[in-house]
Amino acid sequence: MRDILGDKIWEMLFPHGTYCIICGKFIDKTRKYDLCDHCIKHMTFKNTYIDSEYDFAMASMGYGLYERRLVFNLKYDGKTFIARNIADILYDSIYKEVSEGRNCPLIDADLIIPVPVHQNRLKQRGFNQMQKIGKHLSKKLDIPLEANALLRTKETVAQKALSKEEREQNLLDAFSVNPIYKNKLKDSKIIVLDDIHTTGATAKACCKTLEAFSPKKIYYLSLLFAGNRHHLMVE
Ligand SMILES: [Zn+2]
Repeated sequence: MRDILGDKIWEMLFPHGTYCIICGKFIDKTRKYDLCDHCIKHMTFKNTYIDSEYDFAMASMGYGLYERRLVFNLKYDGKTFIARNIADILYDSIYKEVSEGRNCPLIDADLIIPVPVHQNRLKQRGFNQMQKIGKHLSKKLDIPLEANALLRTKETVAQKALSKEEREQNLLDAFSVNPIYKNKLKDSKIIVLDDIHTTGATAKACCKTLEAFSPKKIYYLSLLFAGNRHHLMVE
């Protein structure tokens, strides 16, 4: 309830098409993704195919200061209304693939599963930003969101201080599947939805966990691709 109320208050204070979601400057309703001319110019809207264990993996944007601000404003400043703009960016990036004649299996998926956060972090933050984004993306793509199918059962802290191998080990047992969803996952095509792809350790752990439940395909969609810039990351 507090969560829903929070969203409504934010929407009232910052109606879409009034302020730039990065810098807060006044804008008008014609601005794409509620971004001012300055901020949008500094952002890279470019799809990156990610080399991974997934059947298809893609990120929609680069990882610069402005792109990072987009995620952080939602994640750490609690500006949940940004989730809708991010869903718009993800949706457009998927249809860019389709409109340019490339194969994008994401449009034929059966389920969207956001990368989960641990209960303790959920209590701290009050929401899972991926769940917020997933809700809007699910509506746009007409693909159901199963926000509770994948669970984060182990809290992983201070990931940024660890090496790639240590991160992978740390994350390996961090996820589990909610048994209620066992049948739903079998033979289905799943999109795992993430905000920032860094070393790929989280993505890999999610994939491994879901694989055990025999889905038909597992896809991965991340907003940002940080690549080897993960040292700048804050989990
Ligand atoms: Zn701006």
